[in-house]
Amino acid sequence: MKKSVVSKEYQKLQKDIIELQEQWKTSLNPDCVRPNLDKSAMEAGVPVNALAAIDFDISLFLQWIEDIGELLSKYQPEIETSMQSVKNLLDEETAKRWIDEAFAFNYIYFKSFAEENDLDGWIPQFVAETVLRPYLQMTAAKVQDEIHHGVHGAGCPVCGEPVRLAQLEGEGKKVLHCPRCSAHWNDRRVACSHCGNNDHETVKILTIEGESAAQIQICDECKGYTKVIDTRQYIVKPTPAMLDLNTIHLDFVAQEHGYKSAGETKQTN
Ligand SMILES: [Zn+2]
Ligand SMILES: [Zn+2]
Repeated sequence: MKKSVVSKEYQKLQKDIIELQEQWKTSLNPDCVRPNLDKSAMEAGVPVNALAAIDFDISLFLQWIEDIGELLSKYQPEIETSMQSVKNLLDEETAKRWIDEAFAFNYIYFKSFAEENDLDGWIPQFVAETVLRPYLQMTAAKVQDEIHHGVHGAGCPVCGEPVRLAQLEGEGKKVLHCPRCSAHWNDRRVACSHCGNNDHETVKILTIEGESAAQIQICDECKGYTKVIDTRQYIVKPTPAMLDLNTIHLDFVAQEHGYKSAGETKQTN
C-alpha cells in the first residue's frame, strides 16, 4: 500500500495547522466555554457543543485569521490577497456568524459568502473551521469525564463530526476518538460505529498489507467505515488529529472500496 496518495506538502501543511491550533489554545481563557450537559439531549444524539455557551473573543479571532493567513501564504503565496480581504470583511457580527455556521456545518452559507465576496470557494469555510477547533477542543476537555458512549449515527457526542477513527486500548477495547475536538468514547469492538450493526456477516475488517497496527472496519449495512488503530505499542500517543492525518491513506483505501465516513467534513479544498 502506497502512503504517497497524499502529497508530503499537504501533510506538512496540515501538521503546521494542528500545531498552530495547539498554540492558539494556550491563549484561550478556559472560562470562555461553558458546556451545559443535558443527559436527555445527549441520549437523543444532540452534540454537547450545541448547548454550550461560548464567549467568543473577536480580537483573538482576527489574530488567528492573520496567523492562518500567514501560514497558508507560505505554501501558496497567491492566497495572501484573499486572506487580506477575509480580514477586511470580518467585522464582529460577521465573525460571530462564521462561528455559528461552522458549528452547524453550514456549507451553503460559506459557499455563498465566497461567491458574494469573490473568494476561492474553499477559503471561508476552511478558515472558520480552523479557528473554531480550539473552542471545540476546550469544550471536549471540559466534559470528557462525563462522556462514555455515543449514539450510533449521531457522530461525535461533543461536536457532531462523523466517526472515522478508533484506537484499541487495554484488552482490545475499541475507543472512538474525534480528530476534530479530541473527545473519546467507548464502542463495542464488533459493532459498526455508524449504525450499530453487529452482525459479523456484514461488519468486516479490511486489513492493510504491511500494517499490523491498522485496520479498517467496514459495514455493508450502512456502507460506513472506521479506521481502527492499535496504538497500545506506541511510546508517544499522537493526538487524534495527528493520528487521523497520519492514517489518511486508510481513508483512501476505504473510499476506493466504496465505504464512507458519512457527511464527512473536509478541512481543505
Ligand atoms: Zn468531536
Ligand atoms: Zn453500519
